[in-house]
Amino acid sequence: MPRFSLTTPIYYVNARPHLGHAYTTIVGDAFARWHRLNGDDVHFLTGTDEHGLKIQQAADAAGVSPQAFTDSIAPLFADAWTRLDISYDDFIRTTEERHKRGVARLLQACYEAGDIELDTYSGLYCVACEAYFTEEELEGGNCPVHKRPVERVEEENWFFRLSRFADRLLDWYAKHPGCITPSYRMNEVTSFIKQGLRDFSISRKSLAWGIPIPWDPEQVTYVWFDALANYITAVGYGNDDGAFVRNWPVSVHLIGKDIIRFHCIYWPAMLMSAGIEPPQHWAVGGWLLVGGEKMSKTTGNVVDPLDLIDDFGVDGFRYYVLSDTQYGNDGDFTYEGLVSRYNSDLANNLGNLAARVATVVQKKCNGVGTAPRADSPLSDIARQAVADSTAAWNSFQPAKALEATWSLIHATNAFLENHEPWKAEPSAELNGIMGDALEALRIVAILCVPAMPRTAQILWQRIGLDGDVSAHRLPNSVSWGQYPAGHGVEKGNPLFPRKSL
Ligand SMILES: [Zn+2]
Repeated sequence: MPRFSLTTPIYYVNARPHLGHAYTTIVGDAFARWHRLNGDDVHFLTGTDEHGLKIQQAADAAGVSPQAFTDSIAPLFADAWTRLDISYDDFIRTTEERHKRGVARLLQACYEAGDIELDTYSGLYCVACEAYFTEEELEGGNCPVHKRPVERVEEENWFFRLSRFADRLLDWYAKHPGCITPSYRMNEVTSFIKQGLRDFSISRKSLAWGIPIPWDPEQVTYVWFDALANYITAVGYGNDDGAFVRNWPVSVHLIGKDIIRFHCIYWPAMLMSAGIEPPQHWAVGGWLLVGGEKMSKTTGNVVDPLDLIDDFGVDGFRYYVLSDTQYGNDGDFTYEGLVSRYNSDLANNLGNLAARVATVVQKKCNGVGTAPRADSPLSDIARQAVADSTAAWNSFQPAKALEATWSLIHATNAFLENHEPWKAEPSAELNGIMGDALEALRIVAILCVPAMPRTAQILWQRIGLDGDVSAHRLPNSVSWGQYPAGHGVEKGNPLFPRKSL
């Protein structure tokens, strides 16, 4: 069984899950479900990033320990993913022992390879925070927490010698063309490497909330060495060598465009240093903007995905985020856009097709489904829809995959409008037309599994089919002509009741 493993970034637990987190995680879930539908042995990993200064500060402000603080926030992510039908196989928290053991092992391996050395770190330090800030984090040159000037301070800490890896990274990327998509992101990475890489600091003396450096417990591991390591610590590194050998390298990391350098330069260099194979693929997504702006607490435009599923259903929301944005580009979430896409694609097209087929079968075929015809004009269209959506899912393009699926829905609606079976008397031809439409719906139900698992199952049952739609394996399950005659077809409530603004 082919193995397919994928990861989302781990999410920092200084805030509740928002639309941006939900977006990447739904995309990951759709890819995971697509590969399961194809019979692959799938491992889908997500989790939470729980160390660092901001967590320590948030915990102090709340008057609790950092561990208690993260214990209160991490379940909000797991709960949100449950409500959004995210079928993850593992959820790693960076405060778990398995992660701490793996990070210590990775650090030790890079240290023994001679790639971690002491150096002088110089940074902008707030005495009240007891922490360093980057230029970008300052507000008008001041500490963002205390609104007072920071000082330039030096400390001796541990550095990863990234500068030694430029040639090895460029060689590796030259041998693995196409491993970063979209392709212009690969160019961005290689031109950044060619400009020369700077060593980066991987530890802090001033910070308490982190994983101690194994050979220097006065210092804790800083940010990226801790966070990135989750991808290997979750699959056995430092804990179960046999499992790690089976599960690595990962098939694909889904990442946002703002964390490319860390994932496509720091991470493979860290792995090379430790003698571990780099990931096989990075699929880089854009941001889901809100009304044209990046979502942020300060602009007050943070969208809670769980509010939206109350109104549009889990599948209505999932369909919108998957279909409205070409993965790789920035998307723009607007409430109007959500209502409009929901009404046009789901209520008017898919929902209407399911309802009209069931109505005609009830009135003209005694409510019993009829057999499709081998030479139906819909068979070629279905074949093309399957081929196009397969190619799109396999190249990390959910919007194109759904567009291909919807081409079969549009064609089936047009086919019915052309034949007007609701006006015809019962006949062998009418039975054939309705069998064709039922077969198209059967294929649509299977193709909808990755994006809308609940709707796919409801549709499957309404056209009279038993069992779990997601148990039917491609490509055999979607070849034309398999809808079995003789099952009761049910109309039921509207799949997607129309919404008004
Ligand atoms: Zn401060």
